[in-house]
Amino acid sequence: MPKVLSSNIGYPRLGEQREWKKALEAFWNNKISEAEFLQTMKDLRLAHLSKQSKAGIDLIPVGDFSYYDQVLDTAVTFGLVPERFGYTGGEVSLQQYFDIARGTDNATAGEMTKWFNTNYHYIVPELGGITPQLTENRPLRLYLEAKTELGIETKPVVIGPYTFLKLSKGYEASEFKHWLDQLAPLYIEILQGLNKAGVRWVQMDEPSLALEVSTEEWQWVQDIYAQFNQATPDVNLLVQTYFEGVDDFGKLIDLPVQGIGLDFVHGLEQNLNNLDDWGFPENKILGVGLVDGRNIWRSKLEDKIELIQTISQTVPADRLLIQPSCSLQHVPVTTNSETSLDPIIKDALAFADQKLEELALLTKAANIGASAVQEALDRSREAVERIAHSSWRAPQEQHLQQDEGSATRNVPFAQRQVIHAEKWKLPLLPTTTIGSFPQTVEVRRARQLWRKGELSPADYNRFIEEQIQDWISIQEELKLDVLVHGEFERTDMVEFFGEQLDGFTFTRFGWVQSYGSRCVKPPVIYGNVHFVKPMTVTETKYAQSLTTKPVKGMLTGPVTILNWSFVRDDIPRSKVSYQIARAISDEILALEAAGIEMIQVDEPALREGLPLKRSKWQEYLDWAVGSFRLSTAAVQETTQIHTHMCYSEFHDIIDAIKDMDADVISIETSRSHGELISSFEVHGYDKGIGLGVYDIHSPRVPAKEEMVQLIERALRVLDPKLFWINPDCGLKTRAHPETVAALKLMVEAADDIRQKL
Ligand code: GLN
Ligand code: ZN
Repeated sequence: MPKVLSSNIGYPRLGEQREWKKALEAFWNNKISEAEFLQTMKDLRLAHLSKQSKAGIDLIPVGDFSYYDQVLDTAVTFGLVPERFGYTGGEVSLQQYFDIARGTDNATAGEMTKWFNTNYHYIVPELGGITPQLTENRPLRLYLEAKTELGIETKPVVIGPYTFLKLSKGYEASEFKHWLDQLAPLYIEILQGLNKAGVRWVQMDEPSLALEVSTEEWQWVQDIYAQFNQATPDVNLLVQTYFEGVDDFGKLIDLPVQGIGLDFVHGLEQNLNNLDDWGFPENKILGVGLVDGRNIWRSKLEDKIELIQTISQTVPADRLLIQPSCSLQHVPVTTNSETSLDPIIKDALAFADQKLEELALLTKAANIGASAVQEALDRSREAVERIAHSSWRAPQEQHLQQDEGSATRNVPFAQRQVIHAEKWKLPLLPTTTIGSFPQTVEVRRARQLWRKGELSPADYNRFIEEQIQDWISIQEELKLDVLVHGEFERTDMVEFFGEQLDGFTFTRFGWVQSYGSRCVKPPVIYGNVHFVKPMTVTETKYAQSLTTKPVKGMLTGPVTILNWSFVRDDIPRSKVSYQIARAISDEILALEAAGIEMIQVDEPALREGLPLKRSKWQEYLDWAVGSFRLSTAAVQETTQIHTHMCYSEFHDIIDAIKDMDADVISIETSRSHGELISSFEVHGYDKGIGLGVYDIHSPRVPAKEEMVQLIERALRVLDPKLFWINPDCGLKTRAHPETVAALKLMVEAADDIRQKL
């Protein structure tokens, strides 16, 4: 009887204890030799393959493991090294590879950007003048390595040409076809090598094919895959999509390949409808992405089995591959190392290794029947039910009835502006900062000692108070108009609130790669979020007691907290967002009651949450903006609400930003000032706004004149009565001297312009 196979799309490269990160950083810091580095990486790579093989995965990916980033791997495979790195062809050395990733003294690093809507960042390939050439058959090398070292037949993973070019820059839209033609023979060479080596399946990652593809582009994709198919008669090509349902399903399943992979988690409804509407070709295999590769919760396996049954009415089970929804690189490695989580929570989690078990189980169920694995299914269901029925997730009736998205302040901005002018009596072009001041070694050390119990809470508080004191006097000396307490008590703007709100927990090893060796450990939202007690009042009030100038309260907004966490998946994200919003609202009211009447609610991650497809933007923005408003609307009309965003791509969501109805918004702009200003020329903005006047990402102290120019340019478009002067973002990564020097010049720049107004 033909067998259903399990298949994995990609596996996290980090290692259970972040060995990957440690090896990389040790190598960069000359602590280990290149040979040692390569050996450690090889050991990890092979260990990951063995793990997958032991878990019973039939098709195990190779080529997904990387020393930095899989897109960069693809670029260097094609010799696409930007000219500034002095590359003259041939194999790309390890040094050159890391130079592109990290930059050198003379050449800036490749640009980094988000991989679709994940928090993983890839290096953007630069095409420009370079003629691509195959520098090595990387997929073949890794396939052969697995075969000789472990005796495992693997499935090479290659980023497909359409997606690769969509992710690249340095060419005009009209040159797209030209670049496809340039790359086609190189892909063919790779595939022919794989064909010759006896490879059975190659996964061509083409997530971009699930997005908007023009008719012309489909024709090109069709042509290039026809060439691949012809050149490799013995290799089965599987075109893999993920993160979304597919818009042009008819075109996708028409491609001359042997398999199509679909996401039945994040594109569930659309892809099911697709199968209903279009059927599925009899000569193709369907990769069924069932297990969520974007979240950390156990699957409801019985639902998944039912889904397989539904799908098998269109595609017989023996033509299905049981897969995760996408690469597992977006989830942590294993829950086994989590020793301090509540057992009910731990048992409800599934990181990469647990997801592999789920895949194997589902495959077994498909092959020999669910009853054969009933015990394991029962255990899994019980774990899911235990958390579902826990008091942490008890349904919150009173909230369900309310129309959560409709909170508004009871006085419109135009009136508030008058009230605020009267109350605050700020000068024109008030100066302020975004919240954090340098997190020095001492600050971090004090926190560590306190966490370890080596510094008493009283001593730690005294230390924090001293920091606040120091910086309040610095700010007064600098003559800033609106002060901040400096955020010395916070490691991270989401973690700080997550640790104090109900419904959040923290893992010990739940790391995922964000970019390069940088990893993040997102908080886990497992239950209903509730405000417990004031989180920021003590420090803010203390800071305010030291000065007659206003001190801004400083909070992280609900959408940012949501977007930077792993979120429970039993209720819609919007519901969780509203719950966080209520908790933040409680904090705001507590601040207000303590006399803090200027409050900033940061939303740097609002844009990150935008769905990949435009058609879904409005729905997201409605509840995201609704959440922000729910968190801020209950304040008195005299209270001034600020918000901050780290990005400046604004034009396409400007209406949503206006809808947030913040009294003042600050935006990072110094690196893209011109663009932003022209977007305000078109769209206008008629509430308080501060455009960052200097870049905080580098220690460089800006010249006063640079800032003056930026401000003058902005004031040609924006009303001086509404304009604020501030740096791009928080200053926690900067050192003391440069921070003070830059702020001094910033205040002088503001003064100079006030003289002229
Ligand atoms: N208030 C925060 C800070 O100053 C804002 C950080 C951010 O925008 N990412 O650090
Ligand atoms: Zn910022």
